[in-house]
Amino acid sequence: MTFSRILYVPFDHLNENFGSLKNANPKTDVIALIESQRMLTGRPWHKERLFFLVSSTRHFAEGLKSKGFTVRYLKAATTIDGLKAVRAEFGELPVECAEPSSFRQFNDLSAFGVQFVENDFFLTSRSLFTSWAEKQKSYLMENFYRGQRQRLNILMKDGKPVGERWNYDAENRLPPPKNYEWPEYLEHDRDDIDLEVAKELGHIPTKTWATTREGALRQLENFIKNHLNGFGPYEDAIAKDNWALHHSLLSPYLNNGLLHASEVVERVVKAFDQGKAPIESVEAFVRQVIGWREYINGMYWFLGEEYRNQNHLGANRNLLPLFSDSTKTEMNCVKSVVADVEVRAWAHHIPRLMVLSNLALITGVNPQEFLDWMREQFIDAADWVMVPNIIGMGVHADGGKMMTKPYAAGGAYLNRMTQSCKGCKYDPKLRVGENACPFTTLYWDFLDRHKDVFVKNHRMSQQVNGLKRLSDLPELKVRAQEVLEGLSAGTV
Ligand code: SF4
Repeated sequence: MTFSRILYVPFDHLNENFGSLKNANPKTDVIALIESQRMLTGRPWHKERLFFLVSSTRHFAEGLKSKGFTVRYLKAATTIDGLKAVRAEFGELPVECAEPSSFRQFNDLSAFGVQFVENDFFLTSRSLFTSWAEKQKSYLMENFYRGQRQRLNILMKDGKPVGERWNYDAENRLPPPKNYEWPEYLEHDRDDIDLEVAKELGHIPTKTWATTREGALRQLENFIKNHLNGFGPYEDAIAKDNWALHHSLLSPYLNNGLLHASEVVERVVKAFDQGKAPIESVEAFVRQVIGWREYINGMYWFLGEEYRNQNHLGANRNLLPLFSDSTKTEMNCVKSVVADVEVRAWAHHIPRLMVLSNLALITGVNPQEFLDWMREQFIDAADWVMVPNIIGMGVHADGGKMMTKPYAAGGAYLNRMTQSCKGCKYDPKLRVGENACPFTTLYWDFLDRHKDVFVKNHRMSQQVNGLKRLSDLPELKVRAQEVLEGLSAGTV
C-alpha cells in the first residue's frame, strides 16, 4: 500500500471524530501513536495517571487497527524519535496533527515540520478566544461564559437564559449533608491491555478510571442517572464519607479525548429537557464545561508561554513535605485530601482550590514547585489546565491578571464546607496558641504580609482592614512562624 500522510495522535487526542483523525482514510494514512520515554519518566508522575493515559492510548490504537487502519504504536526516547522511526518505515511523508495542547509539544512538533489542523477538542478555537480576550478590560469568566451560552445556544430561550438567571451559585454552596445515602461508585473492570500496562508500570490500578471510550460513556450515563440531580447543591462540599460526592468524574476523558465536550453537554441538557435534573445542577455542570474548561484553555494560549513563570507575591518556600506524603501533617482536612490524591490521582475542584492551593498560597510555597506537583499528581492535569488554574487562580502568582482576588481562606470556611475539623488536633476558631488551626493563623499572616498590595484591591481591602481589629496580631505573627517552620519540617 502507498501512503500519503502520517497522522500523529497525541495521548490527549484520542477521538476518531475530532482532530487529525476526523478526515482519516485507511487507504492513504498511517496513524502514529508514540509512547515517549521522556514523557513517561521525565517527572515523578502519579502511576495512576500514567496508567490511565497509557492504557487509554493502547486501547485506542487497538480500536483503530480493528477498523482497518495502519497503526504504529511505538515506544521511543522522544515523540520526535518515534515520528522519525515511522518515517523510516513509510518514507518522508508529511506528518499531520491537530494543534497540540501544550506550548512544549507545539514547539517540538513545529520544529520537526509537523503540519497542524485546528484543535477542535474544545468548543472555542484559540483565535475565537483571543478575539474575546482582546476586547476585555478584565478577563471575567462570567462574561465569557454568558457569551458562550448565547453563541452555542445552550440553555437559552428567546435570547434569555432558561430559568431567567445565569447563575445559581447561591443555591450551590451547601455544606456536606449528614446521614445522606450516596450512590455506589461506578467501577471499571480491568482487561488484558490494562493488566499489561499496570505490570509494566509496577502499579496496581484502582477501578476508578475507564480506559476505553465505552467505559467513559458508561461513566457519563452513570453521572446522568445517579449524580446530575444532586450535583449542583453539593458541588463545593467536601464530605468525609464520600470522596467524589456527585461530581461527574468525566474530566480525565474530556481531557484525553475519549469524550467530547459537545456530547457531554448535549446529554446533560437532554436530561434537563426530560425533567430529570433541576436547573441549578444542570447550569452548574454546563458552566464547568462550556465556561470554565474553555476559559482556562483559552487563557493558557492567550497569556503565553512565559505566564507559568510568574511569581508576583515572591513566594519561595520549598514544596511542603505533606504534599508528597499525607502522613507528614496533622491537619485533618489536608491529610485526607492528599491521601485521596495518593490513591486515585483525583480530588474535586474545592479540595484542589480551597485546601491544597489555599495552603500553598498562604504558606508562600513557590508557585512553580506547586504547579509541578499538581501537574504530576492529578489524573486530568494537562498543562493547559494547570498553568492558569494554579498560577492565576490557585496561588495568585500573576498579580491578579486572571482573578481579581486571591482565593485565601481560614479555618472558618473549611469548618463549614468539610467534615474534617471535628476530631482534628487543631481548632478552626483559634488563630493563636498551639491548638490554633494553621489555616486560620496563616490566613491572617498572609494578609498581613501582603497588606500593602491587597489594601489597594477593592475586593480585598475589607479583609485587610480586618487586621486592625486583631489585638493579638504580634502573638499571631509568632505563631505563624512556628506553623510555617513546622509545615516545612512535616510536623504540623
Ligand atoms: Fe483543617 Fe483547621 Fe479544620 Fe484541622 S481545624 S481540619 S487544619 S481547617
